[in-house]
Parts: sequence; C-alpha cells; structure tokens
Amino acid sequence: MSKRFLSIGECMVELSQAGAGLLRKGFAGDTLNTAWYARACLSPEWSVDYFTALGDDAMSDEMLAFFNQAQIGTGFIRRIKGKAPGLYMISLKDGERSFSYWRDSSAARLLAADPDRLREAIEACDVIYFSGITLAILSRDHVDTLLAEIRRAKAVGKLVAFDPNIRPRLWSGYDEMHATISEGARASSIVLPSFDDEAAHFGDVSIEATIERYRALGATSVVVKNGADGVTLSFGGTVSFVAAEKVEQVVDTTSAGDSFNGAFLASYLRTNDATQAARAAAKVAARVVSEHGALVAREKLGLEAL
Ligand code: AMP
Repeated sequence: MSKRFLSIGECMVELSQAGAGLLRKGFAGDTLNTAWYARACLSPEWSVDYFTALGDDAMSDEMLAFFNQAQIGTGFIRRIKGKAPGLYMISLKDGERSFSYWRDSSAARLLAADPDRLREAIEACDVIYFSGITLAILSRDHVDTLLAEIRRAKAVGKLVAFDPNIRPRLWSGYDEMHATISEGARASSIVLPSFDDEAAHFGDVSIEATIERYRALGATSVVVKNGADGVTLSFGGTVSFVAAEKVEQVVDTTSAGDSFNGAFLASYLRTNDATQAARAAAKVAARVVSEHGALVAREKLGLEAL
C-alpha cells in the first residue's frame, strides 16, 4: 500500500559565490533538505510531499519545477499572489562562510494561513516532519493553527518527527523561542535535536539532560545528534549510542543534520529499528559532509551498501 511522507517548512533561493563576481543559484532549506534525503532513502511505494507557500513569480515557478524534478510532491503547495520565496546568500572570506538572509516577507511565512489546506495535507499523509525553523517563521496565530493540526496527527497515531533546529536570530526573544520549541516537541513523537544547539540555547549540561527534557515534554523518542561524536537514542525508554562514520575529509557540513533526519526516518519506517536506522543515517550523513552543498545526489549517498 502506498504511503506518504510530508515535510513542512520553507525552502529558499540560495546564492553562492561562483568566482569572478558571479553567483550560482540553488534551492535549499532545512525541511526541504530532509525531504530530499527522505526521498532518496525511502522505497518507491512511499511518496514524499513538501508543504509550503510560494509566490506567483518566476522564481517560485522554478522552485516548484525543481521539487517536481526531485520527485518531491507539490500538490499541497499554495501560491500567493504578489509574494516571492525567501533568499539567502553565502559569502566566503578566508575560507569562512557567512550568510545573509532576505526572508522576512517570504511567501512561506504564510504556509499556515489556509487551515483547510493544511488539514487536507496532514490528513492525507502518514508521517509528518517539521522543525523549529518552520515554527520560527510563522506568526503566533499560525503556530497555533499548525500545532493544532500536528497534535491531531499524533493523536490518531501518525508518526510526527520534529527537529528543534534552534536559530535564535529568527525568534523575537529567548522566552518565545523556548516556549514554542517546547510546544513543537510536545506535539511530536520523535524529536531529533543537535546537542550543540540544545547546550547553547537550553543550557543542557549533558546529552542525557537533553533526552530527559524532551521526554518530560511528551516526546516518546529522542535522537540527539552530536556531529562527529555520534548520536544517542532514547526509544521505548532504552538508551543506546551509535558512533558517527569516519570521514577522510570533511568538505561541507551544510545539511548534515537534515540528511541524517531524512535517512534516519526512511530507515526507521522500513525496519522499525532505531539503532539500525541511526547506523544507516550516519553513513548517509558521512557522505553528505564529504561533498559540497546541501543536496547531494542520490547516486553519491552509497545507498546500495545500506
Ligand atoms: P550534526 O547535526 O552536526 O550533529 O550532524 C548530524 C550527523 O552528521 C551526525 O550525527 C553524524 O552522523 C554526521 N556528521 C556530522 N559531522 C560529521 C563528521 N565530522 N564526521 C562524520 N560524521 C559527521
């Protein structure tokens, strides 16, 4: 029977340096990246859909065509007259990357403005994925609309996965950020945080503290990612550890966590075995950090060896 994976959030236009003053255009965003890797790793009986809002401009048309080409479903995506996608630019100085963003009035900020369409999408899908960035770009009313639908999905037994993906600059203050991310986690069944972020912004003193905090909120399962130091899993009250893969040369860590999430969920949905899924995801993420860019082609992910 066919199944559907839904990722909810914002994809942006990415501009990066291409030398001689030229810029290269791409498309990326945390939840889109995870949809990309879920699509690469899930079997063909699964479809993967992206839920966002786009404008009616040429760039939105191109982005939609890009999703379709990547076999990411676009049927739930709303087009809003007069709007455009958000944009970010990567600058390189002395080998260090820095980012500038133009996303304050992006179409995606209105992704939850049509509650009927949101409900239709969530009801049509079996697995729902979203992130702290998805919540950060929405107005308070729209956070309420989105989380109400996500709670309904969890209540009827759908798998709801959430990466807190903490980005303080997207929030108006720490209290709002803490409260809303905690609400997102409470609405979810699997939370996939990165320990660095949780330690820096929630003050967690250990990985165990991160696990306990999210379990206390009501997340049944927690997967704490810790870069090259592997992941710690808490599933059904059992805690286990899976080491990261050795990487010869780390080229670009963009989307390491997003790719881990997509590959982990794909494998977990197939095997129902969190440890096995974490091993598979560590392999995929290791390939991703060995290549440039957020979206690494399926052929380079070593999936045949999983
Ligand atoms: P992070 O979001 O930085 O915790 O990374 C997510 C996942 O990517 C980790 O759980 C690892 O599987 C993988 N990863 C990130 N950085 C490295 C690295 N330097 N070497 C090997 N794997 C890595």
